Amino acid sequence: MTQKKYIGVLTSGGDAPGMNAAIRAVVRTGIYHGNTLFGIKRGYEGLIEGDIHQLNRYSVSNIIKDGGTCLQTARSSEFLTREGREKGFKNLKRFGIDSLIVIGGDGSFRGLHELIQEFPMQGIGIPGTIDNDLYGTDYTVGFDTAVNTALDAIDKIRDTASSHSRLFIIEVMGRTSGHIALYTGIGGGAEDILIPEVPMDMQKLIAQLDAQYKSGKKSSIIVLAEGESAGALEIKAAIEKAITWDIKVSVLGHIQRGGDPTAFDRILASRLGYEAVLAVMNNENDKMAGMVNKTVTFTPLEEAWSKKKDIDMTYLTMNEVLAAQQQKPLEVVS
Ligand code: ADP
Repeated sequence: MTQKKYIGVLTSGGDAPGMNAAIRAVVRTGIYHGNTLFGIKRGYEGLIEGDIHQLNRYSVSNIIKDGGTCLQTARSSEFLTREGREKGFKNLKRFGIDSLIVIGGDGSFRGLHELIQEFPMQGIGIPGTIDNDLYGTDYTVGFDTAVNTALDAIDKIRDTASSHSRLFIIEVMGRTSGHIALYTGIGGGAEDILIPEVPMDMQKLIAQLDAQYKSGKKSSIIVLAEGESAGALEIKAAIEKAITWDIKVSVLGHIQRGGDPTAFDRILASRLGYEAVLAVMNNENDKMAGMVNKTVTFTPLEEAWSKKKDIDMTYLTMNEVLAAQQQKPLEVVS
């Protein structure tokens, strides 16, 4: 039996394109089924301050196409304390809110889990992070857009790299996981991809680059995840000692968080927002809504951040094959 609820929704931690589509789906699904919906501004910071507003279906008009989050997001050190979470809980009660939907990453889910362990509150998470580092969903909301943004930048860098015969080391986001680096590296035809999940072999990297250089290659691109233990400048210095290639470093940074969400992210966010509300109405608790093999799944929040999502190593092997040099470049037959 489903129950009518007072549902709060917030976005927390790092912003990700597609968060707006998720908010819209939560609000519209919730209202359609007779629930009362509240938007909480600036994540747990706004929750502690009581920045809570009742929403109607028109509050979320025309946001599906926008990057960022209309509820804004924040990081809150006060929410790390029990006192901070108690303030948040009291504000939820002040508005009669009995369930909270949090769109965010692993930190945000830890916060939600703590809150519902300590106080009588129901909580469901929606994976919203460009890093794609949550267990229990094949893709997180924002990942696809971030990959496409990084890919666009790599394509442009490739143009200048080949014009000047340069080696570019391009750092993409991903503090603890290499999903963005792997996907952008493959999509951008990178010669090498360095991710934190695989220990770096500097000798092997230099040997590969040396072979590329000697084969007369005009340009080469290394895509590096920011979480890789050796930083871009350190890697550059090590390569420079061995090869006389002109090497440039480019850190893509926050452009990867911005931009209009791709169709994939809008559709994923809409589905997970819709499912999260149905889960709340069915009294599911302490779980994250995700999509695994095209099936909606609910994973305990604790597993979503503690279990490691595997990287498919075949993609790295494949990339080595695709980037491997022939001993002698083929003669072009004209
Ligand atoms: P993300 O959700 O993108 O991983 P953060 O790691 O910054 O982003 O987490 C967002 C917020 O979640 C933090 O600012 C903090 O308020 C809350 N949070 C993170 N970890 C915990 C924790 N262990 N206990 C309580 N709250 C937490």
